[in-house]
Amino acid sequence: MVTDMSHRCRVLLLGANGQLGHTLSSALDILGEVRALTRSDADLSDPRALEETLKPLVQSFQPHAIVNAAAYTAVDKAETEHDAARRVNAHAVGLLAELAQAANAVLVHYSTDYVFDGTGTRPWVEDDPTNPLSVYGQTKWLGEKSVAQHCVKHLILRTSWVVGAHGNNFLKTMLRLATDRDALRVVADQIGVPTSTELLAYVTVKMLEAMLQAESNDKRFGIYHVAASGETSWHAYAQYVIAGAIKRGAYLKAKPESIEPIPTSAYPLPAPRPANSRLDTEKVRANFCVALPSWQEGVDSILDDLVKPSVSKNP
Ligand code: NDP
Repeated sequence: MVTDMSHRCRVLLLGANGQLGHTLSSALDILGEVRALTRSDADLSDPRALEETLKPLVQSFQPHAIVNAAAYTAVDKAETEHDAARRVNAHAVGLLAELAQAANAVLVHYSTDYVFDGTGTRPWVEDDPTNPLSVYGQTKWLGEKSVAQHCVKHLILRTSWVVGAHGNNFLKTMLRLATDRDALRVVADQIGVPTSTELLAYVTVKMLEAMLQAESNDKRFGIYHVAASGETSWHAYAQYVIAGAIKRGAYLKAKPESIEPIPTSAYPLPAPRPANSRLDTEKVRANFCVALPSWQEGVDSILDDLVKPSVSKNP
């Protein structure tokens, strides 16, 4: 339910140029006035300078919610840029949490399936023990801790395999590679759920509508797993993307059947990935009555946006 109060509310958004931030910058409009900041407005890599920028802004704008979609997301680069990743994903996030607390604002922050080690086969629940395998995962986990420590009214949304029409992601990489090559090799032994930025924005709005007027001691503040329904491997996801693009008239050299499934061991990367990235979404569905459609629906909608029929026809 959108209340009168939520129509009048002020939202400060960080990371407005990212995949998720871009979608949020229009989706949050429904709540009221949105002040959308990009890296050039507020650089999270220098928490001291960030404080000098944000403190007066928060004092004058008086946001009811701060939504942080900014993050150091270069997962492999983070293995050698530990400090840079930690400054953005943990230190700056701690500062945002302090500012939100001082302003009595709700802080929405996004985290990742990479806080888990990917063992087991069941979807991870919010209380499961974390054990990040990568520097990126460790810094995101530290960010979660900072948020919970410094801001009572927090909503941490852990998600997976984010995909949107804006920005860089696996879906776009597959379309690009399939345009240039007639065969691809894609990892088939990591399981997770592609989650669209549209779905994350919808859930964020629903949660804020419910929580903007909540008291600090409301038990619904906390960590949530938010992902689309279903599950897949990177390999089956790639096949779905290629088939969907061809169905929409794109000419691609690679076809779904020419994508070879390979084990993770055949495609070594600097940062280890969790094999099991499934997130159990029962808590967010129960507390906020959100509908989480299948990952295919989210991907279809992005393909509808991105894929333009080619002049030359598929054979
Ligand atoms: P993107 O990489 O698309 O966007 C991140 C944004 O953060 C970019 O706009 C980037 O700015 C900004 N940013 C990076 N460094 C700084 C900095 N030093 N100061 C200010 N802004 C900075 O990420 P997503 O939208 O995909 O991710 C959104 C959230 O979801 C993040 O918290 C991420 O950890 C989490 N997540 C993402 C997953 C994924 O698959 N992508 C999976 C699970 C969770 P610029 O545009 O200038 O580069």
